[in-house]
Amino acid sequence: FELDYNPFELRELVSRAVNPHAARAQAKELEFHVRVAPEVPGWVVGDAGRVRQILVNLVGNALKFTTKGQILVEIKVAEGTKVTTSSARVHFIVSDTGIGIPAEKRDLIFQRFTQADGSVSRRYGGTGLGLAICSTLVEAMEGRIWLESEMGEGSSFQFELPFDVYPEPKRLRTDRDLRGLAGQR
Ligand code: ADP
Repeated sequence: FELDYNPFELRELVSRAVNPHAARAQAKELEFHVRVAPEVPGWVVGDAGRVRQILVNLVGNALKFTTKGQILVEIKVAEGTKVTTSSARVHFIVSDTGIGIPAEKRDLIFQRFTQADGSVSRRYGGTGLGLAICSTLVEAMEGRIWLESEMGEGSSFQFELPFDVYPEPKRLRTDRDLRGLAGQR
């Protein structure tokens, strides 16, 4: 696969990736929070579609394996790093209060299981491809992905990605903005 790097608005991408899941969380009576730290840059250059794919996958899993409590999506600046005018390392965290993942499975979970190995997919349920794809994508984007989990307490899937910071484009006023301004007068 090829990566497609373009400027995009990070907060908007996060909303578009996770908002569709909010309804599912509500249907399951789960709390659902999205928290983006103020230091996170507005516009960055990256493969928005792939970042979205990873988030959708992780939030989808969190919902699938959680029956009570909450799902929390957090975006912050990677620890020990600083946002400059040209670059930022962003830390994404998707945590849940679901069933958790046993220690022996944690190391394997990002590996691509072959479809042919029925025993593995039987043992782990599903195709076991989602997280392998997430891991491949994160690595291709020169980031890293990992997980923390406690059986019966929940899981926290995390990844960091480096981005070039894009200067905030000046927004042109749309007809709607102008009507809004006129309405305020
Ligand atoms: P699948 O298509 O099988 O869900 P994934 O790679 O997305 O493939 O996930 C592999 C397995 O990892 C899941 O079947 C599940 O057992 C476990 N898993 C993934 N996310 C979570 C989570 N948030 N909580 C508990 N288990 C999880």
